[in-house]
Amino acid sequence: MKNVEIGPIRPPSENSSLLIRVTRGCHWNKCYFCGLYKSMQFSMRPIEETIEDIAMQAQIYHEKNFTSCFLQDGDALVLKTDYLLHILDALNCYFPNLQYITTYARADSITRKTLSELQALRQAGLNHLYCGMETGSDQILKLINKGFQADTVVESGCMAKEAGMILSEFILLGIGGKELSEENAAATAEALNIIRPDYIRVHATGIKPESKLGEFVRNGSFTLQSEEEIVVEQKSFLQQLQPMDSFYINEHIINLLLEVRGNLQTDKAQMLSVIERFLQLPPDEKLLFTVGRRLNIFFLLDDLKKPALHRQAEESMQKILRENPNIDFAVLCNYIRQSQI
Ligand code: SF4
Repeated sequence: MKNVEIGPIRPPSENSSLLIRVTRGCHWNKCYFCGLYKSMQFSMRPIEETIEDIAMQAQIYHEKNFTSCFLQDGDALVLKTDYLLHILDALNCYFPNLQYITTYARADSITRKTLSELQALRQAGLNHLYCGMETGSDQILKLINKGFQADTVVESGCMAKEAGMILSEFILLGIGGKELSEENAAATAEALNIIRPDYIRVHATGIKPESKLGEFVRNGSFTLQSEEEIVVEQKSFLQQLQPMDSFYINEHIINLLLEVRGNLQTDKAQMLSVIERFLQLPPDEKLLFTVGRRLNIFFLLDDLKKPALHRQAEESMQKILRENPNIDFAVLCNYIRQSQI
């Protein structure tokens, strides 16, 4: 039997989904912060091959009752609507219990479709889009070479919602550096207040040295933020988001405060209070938590109160300072973050 082809990436929330690869890589592949598919040439998989994979996975997993499926790789919406409808048809036929079929979607791939095409896709089962808007700022979208502007982000988000799809928007905190931190918070909140997606998934930026943004850091045009400064940016962003029926999530290991999650209608004050609790820590405890979190000693803010973990973090901190007395913790934490993506 031939092997099923599986792509390298899926969103964290799709960890128990059936994975079906419809494209290889990313057709844009030019964002200055992203190295996910850099070494991979983009191609669309022949439809017969993809359907063969679906049939084989149905055989392999005949005892597993999948209720969700994620279409890989970077942006399945770039495919023609007819192609996608064929794939959805095969999925529904081989996996009749699927309740969610999801994919990554670039904003400009969504706006290239008509509303009735999006509605047809949703009716055929494609009912959740993960969109990497990253920011609502035109200035930052240009800086990171995202390939579209904020008006496309807003238009695509509104179209997906109007088509009845579930919409997740990924946000990058720290993607504007120190220079554009407040701009990132304000413009991203402004765009999301119009779109009102179902999920706002925030990620802290980890800048890879080999990326173009890494080059900007080295030439001094982009200044890395400390972990505390990224939290301050998150506070401002969250404050500027209006109450809406959206779930706000820190879900990735790369985020410092994993407990900041909840519904923006009902839990905003509680989420801000967690951020405030971190910001009000004495400076040495704040740094200890940050470094301990990055070294996977702490998981949640309350772990700071656990004596054994506190001691372990202190010992690690002393070792770091002994070996590198002039260490820049913003650089160290970015280094660890970029290794986690
Ligand atoms: S961030 Fe998304 S759109 Fe940009 S290069 Fe990476 S996969 Fe492609």
